[in-house]
Amino acid sequence: MQEQSTHKSTSQPQSLSDRDLLKRMQLLVQRERSLVTEILHHLREVERRKLYSDLGYKSLFDYAVKELGYSEGQAGRRIQAMKLLRELPQEEAKELEKKIEDGSLNLTNICQAQSFFNEVKKASPNKPLQAKDKLDVLKELEHKSSRQGQATLMEKRKDAGLDVSLPKEKTRALSQEHSELQLVLNRELLAELEEVRALLGQKAMGMSWAELIGEMAALSKEALKNKRFGKRREKATPSTPALRRRCIETAAPKPRSISKGKRSRVWERDGGACVKCGSQQGLQVDHIVPVALGGGCEEENLRLLCFGCNVREGVKKLGLERMKRDDMSPRGDMSPSPPGSKRTTI
Ligand SMILES: [Zn+2]
Repeated sequence: MQEQSTHKSTSQPQSLSDRDLLKRMQLLVQRERSLVTEILHHLREVERRKLYSDLGYKSLFDYAVKELGYSEGQAGRRIQAMKLLRELPQEEAKELEKKIEDGSLNLTNICQAQSFFNEVKKASPNKPLQAKDKLDVLKELEHKSSRQGQATLMEKRKDAGLDVSLPKEKTRALSQEHSELQLVLNRELLAELEEVRALLGQKAMGMSWAELIGEMAALSKEALKNKRFGKRREKATPSTPALRRRCIETAAPKPRSISKGKRSRVWERDGGACVKCGSQQGLQVDHIVPVALGGGCEEENLRLLCFGCNVREGVKKLGLERMKRDDMSPRGDMSPSPPGSKRTTI
């Protein structure tokens, strides 16, 4: 009853006096901002457990857009802010939260700052900004519009020696079918691409850049697939029975390594995509029954999973604590560990 009446009064601003209306407005915005930090905490936990994988989403972003109904921009800002909070030490993270809640920092500026921090880290991996430096930058963005924030960060980029003269890479969807990709190449790379064109022979002479990239993508896909999941060779069978015997005979611990031939067969069988979410990125060969729980390396116990789904499966089967190390790995979905390494055998 109580709740209902409160709800009613908030939904009927017409009945409020001018003073009360302004007061309530303040209160609501305050509540909205507190909710933002709470949402960031929850997003972080969903990411930690890789829960989106259970719903068939390829990434937290995918989940935030398709399941939670955020626009791409809204989802991106929240995820970037969540990542910044996650990277900062507890004290500093608390400070940032306070600034979100009291309205001195908006998500757009936090998101822009996080991009800047990432650029610095990329330009000098050994000298990333410290938590204190990050807070100093954020302090300069307080009470600024996103445009003002952008200008401040542009100055910071110049100070940090980052190249600001070149336009940033951009991908823009033109239709369901087509995307526009904007990127800047240096002289060497352009020369290399022309070299590839020449090596491809006559058929590549009249190709557009998109066609050439398509040709190169097909070639590298094949080469990378062979490297990661083994060449598909029927002749590989002689080594397989021996390996299989080793798998069955060795009581404990069971070997974690999976032969290239087997990898290749699993890859073919599962269609080169994650069997849970269909992603084709960061694919790993997963043990359905984990090695840690006595699972073997027979083909029926193997399947293709992307990094996120693999971690999620590990969390479900082995618990969050045990998976902590994997959660900490930076952008594991983009840089999967090579086959045969520990992470492939969750
Ligand atoms: Zn997946």
